[in-house]
Amino acid sequence: MKQRFETRAIHTGCEPEPVTGAVVTPIFQTSTFVQESPGKKKEGYAYARTHNPTRTALEKNIASLEDGNYGLAFPSGMAAISTVTQMLNAGDHVISCDDVYSGTFRVFEKVFKRPNLEFDFIDLTKPHSLEKQIKDNTKIIWLESPSNPLLKITDIKSITNIAKNNNILTVIDNTFATPFFQKPLNLGVDIVVHSTTKYLNGHSDIIGGAVVTNDRELYDKIRFIQNAAGSVPGPFDCFLVLRGIKTLAIRMERHQENAMKIAQFLEKHTKVRKVIYPGLKSHPQYELAKRQMSGFGGIISFFIKGGLDASRSFLERVEIFSLAESLGGVESLIEHPAIMTHTSLPKEVKEKLGISDELIRMSVGIENVDDLIDDLEKSL
Ligand SMILES: *Cc1c(COP(=O)(O)O)cnc(C)c1O
Repeated sequence: MKQRFETRAIHTGCEPEPVTGAVVTPIFQTSTFVQESPGKKKEGYAYARTHNPTRTALEKNIASLEDGNYGLAFPSGMAAISTVTQMLNAGDHVISCDDVYSGTFRVFEKVFKRPNLEFDFIDLTKPHSLEKQIKDNTKIIWLESPSNPLLKITDIKSITNIAKNNNILTVIDNTFATPFFQKPLNLGVDIVVHSTTKYLNGHSDIIGGAVVTNDRELYDKIRFIQNAAGSVPGPFDCFLVLRGIKTLAIRMERHQENAMKIAQFLEKHTKVRKVIYPGLKSHPQYELAKRQMSGFGGIISFFIKGGLDASRSFLERVEIFSLAESLGGVESLIEHPAIMTHTSLPKEVKEKLGISDELIRMSVGIENVDDLIDDLEKSL
């Protein structure tokens, strides 16, 4: 019988080490592995760019959490995203959601356009508008749901149906939802990418990434590029992500519980113009979020009244919330997307998306929620 999520998070890939019986997967801090005879490798290990046992454990573990067959670990979310994109050939076309992670937008626009890949950024929350944008050379549809920072929800099943009818691959960045709340492979997505820097590691102490797929051919292609181009994580970082994942389920439950209470608090506050959280009935895609996710996550965005001055003084006053980029750690973080995380977006793109000076994004941590609410109340 297939074990349940929480059990797999702790055990899959992490069987006791056979030589010593160590219960925790060791950090195999080695660059090379001895061979018994030329080409005769122990367990397939030869050189650590290609394989490392700590990394293998993490790859099996993340694949299992996504209900996938094959996992790959990367040194950053951007490395995972870039390696997947390197499968494409000059002249290929990618359709991406318009409020894709700003670093993904930047690497598409500033790095992958140079070797002649084409990108269009469109609002994929309206699946019917997608078909008009598909061209003969469209090879990938790139999704992010919930998106960052506006937490738009994309109907994953509708998009993957359209993609399959047109022989196009779908890739989703599942960093915000995590496999605890959303399993895109079960909705027809071909490739899941992650920044493990965020919830999967969960403790704001490493940079990492991952790819998961059910397709052997795609896996072989991506692994080949990873090994050839060299985008590999170190064993210590893999160990830390594995350690973080053991508590993913209980962390996500608490992130969501706290976020829901804070979203409801903010929605009633007179200094707040509007709150965006997929778990609120006021979210335009609340029903869709409820249908395709098993929870709403720990990120809230909201608009404060009073322009940049109000945002600035609020963000200077918070004490438990740290004013910092990133998200998904046990500690609560808060930030100003227009000035901090989304500066690489051109001004007109920010305006079109609604990333204004009044927009604040918070990653709700797992502290006591009453302390978090006191901090916000005092600072507003
Ligand atoms: C942080 C993030 C990335 C990039 O990951 P790094 O680990 O910082 O390279 C990609 N997508 C999303 C949604 C992210 O939040």
